[in-house]
Amino acid sequence: MKIALIFGTRPEAIKMAPVYLKMKELGMDVKIIATAQHREMLDQVFEIFKIKPDYDLNIMKPNQQLSELTSRLIVSIDKILKKEKFDYILVHGDTTSTMAGSIAGFYNKIKVCHVEAGLRTNNIYNPYPEEMNRRITGTIATYHFAPTKRAKKNLLNEGINEKNIIITGNTVIDSLLWVEKNKKDEIEKIKEKYGLKGKKYILMTMHRRENWGDPMKNTLKAVKKYLKENSDMNLVFPVHLNPMVRKVVNEELKELKNVILIDPVEYLEFISLMDGCHYIMTDSGGIQEEAPSLGKPTVVLRKTTERPEALESGTALLAGTDFNDVYNTMKQLEGELYEKMSNTSNPFGNGKASKIICDFLNSL
Ligand code: UDP
Repeated sequence: MKIALIFGTRPEAIKMAPVYLKMKELGMDVKIIATAQHREMLDQVFEIFKIKPDYDLNIMKPNQQLSELTSRLIVSIDKILKKEKFDYILVHGDTTSTMAGSIAGFYNKIKVCHVEAGLRTNNIYNPYPEEMNRRITGTIATYHFAPTKRAKKNLLNEGINEKNIIITGNTVIDSLLWVEKNKKDEIEKIKEKYGLKGKKYILMTMHRRENWGDPMKNTLKAVKKYLKENSDMNLVFPVHLNPMVRKVVNEELKELKNVILIDPVEYLEFISLMDGCHYIMTDSGGIQEEAPSLGKPTVVLRKTTERPEALESGTALLAGTDFNDVYNTMKQLEGELYEKMSNTSNPFGNGKASKIICDFLNSL
């Protein structure tokens, strides 16, 4: 059985690395096709897990529109698929690489397997590509590795055959446990870097396209008000490199003494910052999945979520992006709710997802 893993962004690499390592450990015949939709951030993840892709498409060009990216991805992946004759392709999540990899697989009559399948916002009119990418991939895929029961239910509702849906948990927990085991000393050492040991801080990230403009501005104004009133609370914010994000963050937060603005950090450093923080405010998906394993409550800075499990289990609060809602959510976390949220088990998995995926493939 010959398998290809296709991915290209940082979160995909973090979530596919443990699958690759498990396949190698089990002696499976696997190759990585890295699209490099994120370049530097992808390479950093490969370095941590000591992984070298077999193919690197280095697909990004300045000012590339999504349609050009998609078509170049399909053509480039297609050439490799014709040469290698894989039996299965594994794609992950909801990126352009995911969708293009699935289409290239379909055209070459190769069975596509979707890791982190079945997440839905149920808003198909959302103009941002993630929901459509995951729906297209869900339609093409033969096997669906769903992280939760709810994800499985979403797929059943769309008419997917139950036999082809496997609940695995999310592989992001496998990664987290891997770095906690293999990189413990480095994670502890990083904690000294910003002089934060023993200090109370909120860790924040915000970069989604849907939050550019007023949603981000209003959120940051609320955070600013809170931090001005609570000088014993600090904020650490790795700020995305996109100028749309940097401009607003600098305008709103730069002058505050209890704010540390930094560039995006590499994965180990981020895990270390998460491990030391009081709680997390974010519009990221992966961070919501990791945080409960470290006992950290999450404030979700979005109006909708494809991860309702975090809200239902009580590890996260959906604050939205309105000034009052964000400010009031921060106030709420001063009370006993904080303790409750910190002590909730992770609804997204227990670190066994990669093994379940490999066992399933080996049983075919
Ligand atoms: N992350 C990181 N450095 C950062 C911010 C996040 O390594 O400065 C990691 C984080 O631990 C998580 C993943 O990147 O595993 C989340 O990526 P992102 O927020 O870009 O994407 P999403 O999860 O929303 O797809």
